[in-house]
Order: sequence, then C-alpha cells, then structure tokens
Amino acid sequence: MLLDLSRLHGSREHFERTFQPAAFDPQDVEYRVAAPVHLTMDVEKAGGDAFRVTGRATTRLAMQCGRCLEDIELPIDAGFELRYVPQAENSADEPEREIAEDDLTTAFYREGAIDVIEMLREQFVLALPMKPLCAQACRGLCPACGENLNRTECACSPIWEDPRLAPLKGLLNREKEN
Ligand SMILES: [Zn+2]
Ligand SMILES: [Zn+2]
Repeated sequence: MLLDLSRLHGSREHFERTFQPAAFDPQDVEYRVAAPVHLTMDVEKAGGDAFRVTGRATTRLAMQCGRCLEDIELPIDAGFELRYVPQAENSADEPEREIAEDDLTTAFYREGAIDVIEMLREQFVLALPMKPLCAQACRGLCPACGENLNRTECACSPIWEDPRLAPLKGLLNREKEN
C-alpha cells in the first residue's frame, strides 16, 4: 500500500487500516505475518518536504524457536515515530542533511509516497526478539539424534564415551545377556 503524501488534507491526518497477512507476500525469511495487522498512524507535515509519522501496529508473527525449531507465534505491539524525507536527499552527491533537532529515525519516501507495507516490515524486524524462544526453559534439540528434548527423552548419552572402551562394554553386555 502506497500512501500518497500529496493527497494529505491539512497539516495532519489520521489513518486506520487493517492488512491481511497476504499483503506481506512474499513473506520475510525471519518471520511470517500470522494475523491481520492493525495499523493506526498520524502523518503530519514537518517542515519542507519532511513528514512525521507516528503510529502503532499490532499483529501476531510466526517464527521458529531459536533452540528447538518448533513454530511459535508472538504477539507484536510496535509503536513507532519516524521522520520521512524524500529518497533523493540521501544520495551521495548531495550535501549531508543537517541533523534534525529531534532524534527520530529517518526513513525515506519515493515519488511522493510512503510504502506502508515496507514501513511495517521494518517495524516488525525491530520488534522481534534477538533469539525467539518457545519458552525460557526450552531444552532444544539433542545434538546427537536431533530429537526435540521438550517432548522426549532420547537414549543418547550426554557423556562422551571413550571409543577404546567400546569393545569392553560389548563384552560386559554379552555377559549380561547370558
Ligand atoms: Zn523451543
Ligand atoms: Zn538424542
């Protein structure tokens, strides 16, 4: 969805939109949008061709647990405040833009329009935890057999065994069986 800034009424406008997950196709590799995205935002003129965008997006994102690789869903409530300037001002041959008096994150719009889906994608990446976990106590996968240790106790011994003792162990087992 492109927000045409030339069609802004007055100096400030309020928007409320809901986007279905399919609006985010192709989905990002790090997560998948798993529920409709509710967006409320205010766009206001911020001097010259700059715009201040203040908003909040809520949804649920699906991703893999960083330890056991199970699918998990996290509720997301991302508030943001951005300063949008035209893309061209960022090009190398133009003088460096003066540092704004506020310390808002600068984003760029192209051809007079803000790409709202792209903006939301960036907010989702920022809202994701560094290492998402299904639970703090997630036990992960067995490094030997790959079983999910949250669901099953595998038979792998966590203790490293000296392979030179293996024949001896076989001998002992055989004695037991007799
Ligand atoms: Zn896990
Ligand atoms: Zn195992």
